[in-house]
Amino acid sequence: MHIVILGNGIAGITCARHIRKRSNHRITVISGETEHFFSRTALMYIYMGHMTYDHIKPYEDHFWAKNRIDLVRAWISRVDPAAGKLTASDGREFAYDKLVIASGSISNRFGWPGQDLPGVQGLYSYQDLELLEENTRAAGGGGGNGGASAGGGASSGGGASASSGNGGNGGGSGGGAGASARSHASNGRPATSASASSHASNGRPATSVERAVIVGGGLIGIELAEMLMSRQISVTVLVRESSYWNNALAVRESELVTQYIRSHGLDLRLETGLKEIQAGANGRVAAIVTDKGETIACQLVGLTAGVAPNIGFLEGSGIETNRGVLVSRAFETNWPDIYAVGDCAEFREALPGRRSVEQVWYTGREHGVVLAETLCGQRKEYAPGPWFNSAKFLDLEWHPYGDVPPTPLPDQASLYWENTSGQQAVHLVYRASDGRFLGINSLGIRYRHLVFDRFLRDSRNIDYVLENLAAANFDPEFYRAWEPDILETYNRQTGKNLRLKQRKGLRAVLNLIKPA
Ligand SMILES: Cc1cc2nc3c(=O)[nH]c(=O)nc-3n(C[C@H](O)[C@H](O)[C@H](O)COP(=O)(O)OP(=O)(O)OC[C@H]3O[C@@H](n4cnc5c(N)ncnc54)[C@H](O)[C@@H]3O)c2cc1C
Repeated sequence: MHIVILGNGIAGITCARHIRKRSNHRITVISGETEHFFSRTALMYIYMGHMTYDHIKPYEDHFWAKNRIDLVRAWISRVDPAAGKLTASDGREFAYDKLVIASGSISNRFGWPGQDLPGVQGLYSYQDLELLEENTRAAGGGGGNGGASAGGGASSGGGASASSGNGGNGGGSGGGAGASARSHASNGRPATSASASSHASNGRPATSVERAVIVGGGLIGIELAEMLMSRQISVTVLVRESSYWNNALAVRESELVTQYIRSHGLDLRLETGLKEIQAGANGRVAAIVTDKGETIACQLVGLTAGVAPNIGFLEGSGIETNRGVLVSRAFETNWPDIYAVGDCAEFREALPGRRSVEQVWYTGREHGVVLAETLCGQRKEYAPGPWFNSAKFLDLEWHPYGDVPPTPLPDQASLYWENTSGQQAVHLVYRASDGRFLGINSLGIRYRHLVFDRFLRDSRNIDYVLENLAAANFDPEFYRAWEPDILETYNRQTGKNLRLKQRKGLRAVLNLIKPA
């Protein structure tokens, strides 16, 4: 059987690896973006000069031939389910017995006047990274940090990364099909940082851009801001909300993050939208006008107002779509031999407590693992465990485990603790009636995902969770432990007198992750 996978991101590649682990099926992976899989979550670090493209490829280039996974570089423009074939923009055709669509996302554009001007761009693909390099290069062609160019122009590509990851979110590498998986943290960001690229003598590439305006302050917008600020470009970010990301974070968390990013030099404009983008005499972006009528001069505009499933090329194919490719819990489309996974898939019925389109790294990975089983003869439905994620706002790490709604639902109680420095906070939610722990957001403190996954699966009581909080801590040894302060806040709030039980260490963790 010949399985063709359209897309070499985390979802498509994980599916390919797991099919190979389980079968001898012929596997072809097609992608137009880059020849090899790279950590998209790490794109920023190429631009910042921390790493090169090679550093962020989770697998050595020989991995694919060794595992008999054929890689094809092509943009697919047409899918013909009745004939069982794909057509590429260069006319090549590819026949399949089974097709997996894993085409990811594209950046949203909402029809703003001027959105297609030179100097206006999104941040999603490797090509976006190359464009950013070009758009922020010094007038006359100087600058450039060798980061994007290290990706190899047209025929290779890739992101980059250094950065953290708490080992907790289960994405990324892990268990190659018998070959050299490189060591990456679980959110797809490589675990180590490395030196890179040729910078100007002051360590920063020269740039002709003095100010950039970023429209939309989600995680990608903040990453773009950090990238630009690393080159001394002043950044203004426009967000519609009255406090940063308060549709996802509770009021105090959102205020903490707002304060944090402002204190790092970012000009964050709340309750402000984009009205239009204006060109200068040279035809490039020269200014934006906000919906409050203010004009802000800028030489770059980043459009990061969310992403949407990348499904435009499926129009007219007969494959049913809504926001994304419509799939069952086993990732089946309306065609018996066609499946969809990752950011581009939309569940016909959202799973309880989940969104119908899941656009994060680790869910894409999980989709790929589950679909591989079906493709190898054992139909399997997606049944994910408790929600988790891992991201950062500049240097402030954020780890949500379980469900922490911005506003408590009926019968929910919460504990919020924040360090006076505004650099650490935790927000735990539990059922008011019986104390059942429901979720935690941590900011600036790392807790082990495995431990919280166990707490949630075992429906632990909030008291138990707090008594064992120190053992779940995953910060480096020399970091200050905040758990006594957190527990004291809870004791004060509830009139209880709980004490921390275990200290951190491997033995304590092993105890905690044993099923109850
Ligand atoms: C800058 C950035 C930072 C992020 N940070 C985080 C993070 O910290 N944590 C997190 O959980 N998530 C993060 N994400 C989101 C995460 O990267 C995505 O959810 C994930 O990569 C989606 O994986 P995927 O395999 O579904 O699709 P993709 O990774 O998008 O892969 C799809 C591939 O298919 C190719 N393709 C699409 N259409 C065609 C076609 N017609 N022909 C040929 N090839 C095609 C694309 O070019 C691409 O290579 C980030 C995303 C970005 C852009």
